[in-house]
Formats: sequence, structure tokens, C-alpha cells
Amino acid sequence: MRIIPGLKAESSIAEAQRLMVQAFKLAGIEEPEADARLLLGHALRLDRTQLFSQADRLLDSREVSAISALAARRLKREPVSRILGRKEFWSLPLDVTGDVLVPRPDTETLVEAALDFVVRGGKGLKNLRLEKLRLLDIGTGSGAIMLALLTELENATGVATDISKAAIDVARGNAERLGLAARCSFIVCDIADGVTGPFDLIVSNPPYIAHDDIATLEPEVREHDPALALDGGKDGLDAYRAIAARAASLLAPGGRLMVELGIGQEDAVRDLFTKSGMTVGAPRADLAGVPRVLSATLRP
Ligand code: GLN
Repeated sequence: MRIIPGLKAESSIAEAQRLMVQAFKLAGIEEPEADARLLLGHALRLDRTQLFSQADRLLDSREVSAISALAARRLKREPVSRILGRKEFWSLPLDVTGDVLVPRPDTETLVEAALDFVVRGGKGLKNLRLEKLRLLDIGTGSGAIMLALLTELENATGVATDISKAAIDVARGNAERLGLAARCSFIVCDIADGVTGPFDLIVSNPPYIAHDDIATLEPEVREHDPALALDGGKDGLDAYRAIAARAASLLAPGGRLMVELGIGQEDAVRDLFTKSGMTVGAPRADLAGVPRVLSATLRP
């Protein structure tokens, strides 16, 4: 059977779009319209307006093959961002490969929380926006969190770590493309092994899915996000334990540790951080109301 039933040379762009939406819907894909538009645009190298203004143009067989190849990948539940190799985060266009977690909108909550701290909650309530802040991002993946912060904090410098060399290469590439590389060093290591502080702000979206839960996730996540970026061990908390063990020695006085949480992990992570000598604040919720970010300081 054809990948997109009905699609053939001499189909119009509008027809191709309609057939793709139909095929994606049938396959239970969550956002069939948006996905069809993005993939069609990518295959034909047309933006949204061009797709619209050329809706009646007829496709040739080479174009149909290109469209079918991308649609086949989406039907195998590869996320559109991976097919495009691009994902927007905090309005920054980031390259993504199979070696990094696709940055999620939820994680922008962590960026917001970090910027809030810088603007309002800094040392003695001083606005730290223009200070030479030192940032550490543990498990940076595509570099999303670090690069969003460096974009906002023009005098800050950062260290970004990841256990995956391939991920660090992606993050560094993003930093270079965005003109931020001069303010960040990228280190391949577990958590923060070999990294010396002090840091004013430590951020992390660590792997936090309990090992046995990975099998229950959507195929887009389960089969396409790297296991290293998801798997938080038996109870999902391994990375938080490792971060808690290192945080005190890495934080500057008055500095902050901020982590993203998985659903239902607030109490357990609060406990781990409290036991490591930190004071933990109220969580910050994401747009869905889920407690998503926990913030901790050293107890004086
Ligand atoms: N937010 C991701 C998900 O739920 C998980 C990322 C992580 O483990 N940090 O799919």
C-alpha cells in the first residue's frame, strides 16, 4: 500500500495536504494538521504562506517521493521536530538530533523560574540581571536551558555538562550558531564530575522517568528520545540524588539550585535536597498546573 493513500504525481499541494492529514488522523497522530503542514513545507521547501498561495500547484513525482518519505517517518511516530532536525525553545531555533531530548515547552517554566530568581530573589533582593553570573546546566542535552539563560543574561557565563559526547556536540553547535559559544564551556561528564564552582545558579532537567515507566510513554518519546535523557533509574530519582550530593560544593553563597520535576516527584526531591543541607522553596507550576520546578539554596 502507498504511504499516503491517493497521493500521486499531479496531485495538487492542497490535495497532498488533505491526504496527509487524513493518513495522520487515521494513525492516531495528535496534531495531524500542524504536522502535515510542517512536513509538506519541509519537503517542498515552502513556508506556510507559500504553501497557501501555491495550493493549486501540481506536484511532480520527485516531490511526491520526498513528501512520502517524510510522511513515512511521521507514521512510524518519529516526532516532527526530529524529522526537521529543529525545535524552537524560548524562541530560539535549536538543532536536535537523535542524541538529545527534544526540548519541551514545560521546561520553559524552569527558565522562567531562573530568570525570576535573577530579577527578584538574588542576593539581598538585588537585581542580578547585569551581574557576571556563573551558571551551570547539568545534563544540557541540546543546550536549551543554558542557551535560553545566556540569551537573557548578557553578562552571564556558563558551564554545560552532559554524559553524552554526541549531545555536547549538538549543544556546542547550537551555542555557536546562536553566537553564545564564547560565554559557555561544554564538558562531557556524569552530573558535574570534575567541574569546580562556585556557581550562582545551577539548573537541570535531569532524566527523571522511573525505569519501568519508560515502556508506557508515547512512542514519540519512548522510541525517539534517548534513554540516557529519560531513565532516572528504579524510582526515577537517581539523578536528583547525584545532584543533591554535589550541589553544596558547587553553589556560591546565596546561589540557587533549580531542577525540573517529573509529575509527583516534588516531595521526594524536596526530601533529598533538605537532607543534603539545603532550604527548599515552594514549587513553580507549569502551564498545566503541575509542580514542575523546585528551587533550593544552601542553609547558611
Ligand atoms: N519531560 C520528559 C517527558 O516526560 C522527560 C524528560 C526527563 O526525563 N527529564 O517525556
